Amino acid sequence: MRRLPLFFVLDVSESMLGEPLYQLEEGLERIVTTLRTDPHALETAYLSVIAFAGQVRRLCPLTELTAFSVPQLPIGGGTSLGKALSFLMDEFDTQVRKGSPEQKGDWKPIVFLITDGTPTDHVDRAVERWRRHYAARATLIAISIGHKADLSVLQQLTPADKVLTLEAASPESFRKFIAWVTQSIQVRSRSVGDPVQEERLPEADSSILKKLNLDKPIERVDETAAFFVSKCQKSKLPYVSRYEPAHQEVEFGDARMAATIYRLVGCYPVRATYFEMSSEQPNVAVVDSSQLLGQPGCPHCGNPIGFAMCGCGNTLCISGPGEQTCPWCEKTAMFGRAPDDAPSIELTRARG
Ligand SMILES: [Zn+2]
Ligand SMILES: [Zn+2]
Repeated sequence: MRRLPLFFVLDVSESMLGEPLYQLEEGLERIVTTLRTDPHALETAYLSVIAFAGQVRRLCPLTELTAFSVPQLPIGGGTSLGKALSFLMDEFDTQVRKGSPEQKGDWKPIVFLITDGTPTDHVDRAVERWRRHYAARATLIAISIGHKADLSVLQQLTPADKVLTLEAASPESFRKFIAWVTQSIQVRSRSVGDPVQEERLPEADSSILKKLNLDKPIERVDETAAFFVSKCQKSKLPYVSRYEPAHQEVEFGDARMAATIYRLVGCYPVRATYFEMSSEQPNVAVVDSSQLLGQPGCPHCGNPIGFAMCGCGNTLCISGPGEQTCPWCEKTAMFGRAPDDAPSIELTRARG
């Protein structure tokens, strides 16, 4: 039996925290449930899931539909698209069967690349390798969630009609998007081997999925949200606070100046695998603590202060002023409120 390999290459960087990640897990569940009721898909479809943040992990190798179960998606810091592509190509080399006189190879694989950020690593070499040796052997559908993905990179990977933007990640539009992905797989499983038909994608609802508009120059949106990773003192587990910029005017002597402050919009518990999925390079971007508005509680243990800073430079949760043990450096120290005239502290942003 010839297999139809399906690769889901999923961005699991911090910007996917919260709803988008749950929707993606749920979406995979729905894709699999629907495909299992389709005799064509049942016969041919094999699924693999690859997650990438700063690091890349294969969460599931190519598995037939009946045996496949949706993996839990991890979260990490960074968006190493270059690494993810290299990993995918290595998977092609080892997992996708080539045809030979003795055996029929796999059908042309479909790759669903879903990302919502700008690559934080170098992609040029991987893009070049993909274009030279793999692009013609696979159908790659690149989907940007929201408007922060770097479309100019995605556009180098696949024809423009296969670069799509999922406008708003509301539950409703996400459901429709997942239905569209399922339909693309079903259409393909019926047309495998037909070089013209198999490249066709089902019509997408343009209010939800936008095709790349080639008449408009691609704008590069810079990374906006700031993420900080802290550790819970009790559980030692990490959590991530998300701050979004807001522009404000501040008085500075007699002058008024425009300033950017960051407002807390969410704080999410993450699993210990966060560190395995994150970039090895130290985080570099820095935000001044005086620019941050709002203080999270700890989502793991409920401590009211989720953003206390230890002398080691890391942040942790504390119950209040007093003696506390830092889960990063394991030193015990007194924590108190910083006096109002204390100099502000520079905080290191996670990579997003
Ligand atoms: Zn805690
Ligand atoms: Zn410490």
